[in-house]
Amino acid sequence: MLIKRLYMNNPLRNYSYIIVCEDTQAAAVIDPFDADMILDCAKENGWQIEKIINTHEHFDHIQGNEAVVKATQAKIVAHVNAKDSIPNVDHLVTAGDTIQVGSSIELTALDTPGHTFAHLCLFSAQGTPRLFCGDTLFNAGAGNCYTGNANALYKTFSEQLFKLPLNTEVYPGHDYITNNLEFSLDREPDNEFAHQLLQEVSAQTPQTRMVTTLEIEGKMNAFFRLSNKQIINKLLESFPDISPSEEQVFVHLRKLRDKW
Ligand SMILES: [Zn+2]
Repeated sequence: MLIKRLYMNNPLRNYSYIIVCEDTQAAAVIDPFDADMILDCAKENGWQIEKIINTHEHFDHIQGNEAVVKATQAKIVAHVNAKDSIPNVDHLVTAGDTIQVGSSIELTALDTPGHTFAHLCLFSAQGTPRLFCGDTLFNAGAGNCYTGNANALYKTFSEQLFKLPLNTEVYPGHDYITNNLEFSLDREPDNEFAHQLLQEVSAQTPQTRMVTTLEIEGKMNAFFRLSNKQIINKLLESFPDISPSEEQVFVHLRKLRDKW
């Protein structure tokens, strides 16, 4: 699988991805935002876009659909719950369904509620495991729950993401790593690994941004470090009455992140 990450250069800092079957040059676009940028890139490289996969229904993950379909006749794939919120979906999928791209790519759909209730993550198990995670998991952070539910997002993390192989590469829908690391460090100031990583990513651009793995997330993402003593103690300063179960820590970290 060849992965082209395209930074959309917008205030929301979206990433769209083109994933390409190297045997057939067939391609899928995940979360098209700027259709022109995506179509130009595919044309330059001789890739045939046959599918659009929307991780969820928010406008910044679907707004390029119409123009990409017009230019390529690509079929749109989305979560079954998005049937009324994403126009013209061809294939509605649910947990465990597989999505084929060309002859060599097989993605497994994970049903990952929390950011919204129509959210898919896409997992590729062939070779290096990879996760296209939309607005569920960000580098060093977790998606907001304004149109979802933080307890559901915790469940998604604990029952699904925490169980994936540690070497899984993480491909999120936005470039938020710098802010998110600053939040993690505000919660866990003694995290030396996060300090070093923040220095490293501060020298990168959204285009040259490192790709993290779940192992790296486990070392610096506060939403993965729910039993860390410093995180719990600092959280109790803001919420003295909570019982610091992993779920409560996750939900209250998300509350603080909303105001960060
Ligand atoms: Zn979203």
